[in-house]
Amino acid sequence: MMRLPKFSYRTPRTIAEAVKIVADAGPEAQFVAGGTDLYPNMKRRQQTPKTVISVMRLPELNQVTGHGAQGLVIGASVTLTDIIENEIIKRDYPVIASAARTISTPILRNMGTIGGNLLLDTRCNYYDQNYEWRKGINFCLKKDGDVCWVAPGSSKCWAVQSSDLVPVMVAIGAKLRLVSTLGERMIDAAGFYNDDGIDYLKKRPDELLVDIRLPPTNGWRASYQKLRRRGAFDFPVLGVAAWIKLDGQAKNADGTSALPASSGRIEDAKLVLGGIAPSPIEVNDAANALIGHPLNDDQIQAAAEACYIKARPLDNTDFVYQWRKQKARQYTIRALEELR
Ligand SMILES: Cc1cc2nc3c(=O)[nH]c(=O)nc-3n(C[C@H](O)[C@H](O)[C@H](O)COP(=O)(O)OP(=O)(O)OC[C@H]3O[C@@H](n4cnc5c(N)ncnc54)[C@H](O)[C@@H]3O)c2cc1C
Ligand code: SF4
Repeated sequence: MMRLPKFSYRTPRTIAEAVKIVADAGPEAQFVAGGTDLYPNMKRRQQTPKTVISVMRLPELNQVTGHGAQGLVIGASVTLTDIIENEIIKRDYPVIASAARTISTPILRNMGTIGGNLLLDTRCNYYDQNYEWRKGINFCLKKDGDVCWVAPGSSKCWAVQSSDLVPVMVAIGAKLRLVSTLGERMIDAAGFYNDDGIDYLKKRPDELLVDIRLPPTNGWRASYQKLRRRGAFDFPVLGVAAWIKLDGQAKNADGTSALPASSGRIEDAKLVLGGIAPSPIEVNDAANALIGHPLNDDQIQAAAEACYIKARPLDNTDFVYQWRKQKARQYTIRALEELR
């Protein structure tokens, strides 16, 4: 049986108290929300904070406010189950509810939060193992070792960003609000992830993720397609998020699009690949293939080809990596066809 190491557990009731505790405790402290990522990592001795600070009793982090016409604010501690069941998210941001529904299992979604999902540790077959297993290969660059077993000549870790909501948040232009004792800052999801499996976030350890801000729906629509081994539950080994906005498009009262995408010209587009690299990958050539055209077969094929060319998965998660590259084409087609 794998046991948790010893740590002290704190349960602040205000944001000010939470950021003071983490600032006072220093680099040995870490926030926890549902714990579905952090606690298994602690049991495997991949992360070993001495002070663990729960964010679940901070009221501001447990709210969802706003709607599609004005934009939505989702508190970082809102659980994935609450995201899936929230009527406004289902109506105005259905891509978030449907992507959240693909994450892990119902029991884990009852505990796991949107904030924890966006801050998930990167994953790799040589890292997601217990301590003894990792010791058997003399560890690796990401934790306790000095070699990357995926790319032995590399000085960089290639562990994979494996959250389902990250590519979606990047595609729709979400912003993340971070607070510390030094103040507050807002950062675009698109610029939040580093292409480095060890230093994977542009967040300091003393910063608390308070909420996620979604832009008004304003006529855009988005979709997400996920490749995984087991349909019932599994991490993504490829995720494709697609976002399009049509030119001069008629809108419903709530800001959602009133026309099928095939009947308008695409004014703006984003295609984002997840689950294949340390950070989500925005494929500009795919967006350029769509912009200025209706969403027809030729444009979809061109965008899919651009995603295929850009996708370069490594041999450090599930499935043969060359096959996952092939799948980037097919899953892009699926994601765009969902928007027609
Ligand atoms: C069996 C299994 C299957 C899974 N399948 C999937 C899957 O298919 N797709 C997927 O995306 N994920 C999957 N996960 C990962 C995980 O369950 C989810 O990503 C979940 O949303 C994590 O949320 P959490 O609240 O439990 O995070 P936690 O474990 O509490 O935290 C994760 C990280 O975020 C930090 N953190 C959390 N909240 C804050 C905050 N407010 N401010 C600052 N730092 C914070 C923690 O310090 C930690 O580093 C799976 C996990 C398991 C165990
Ligand atoms: S990519 Fe290399 S350094 Fe990173 S976790 Fe995997 S084996 Fe370790």
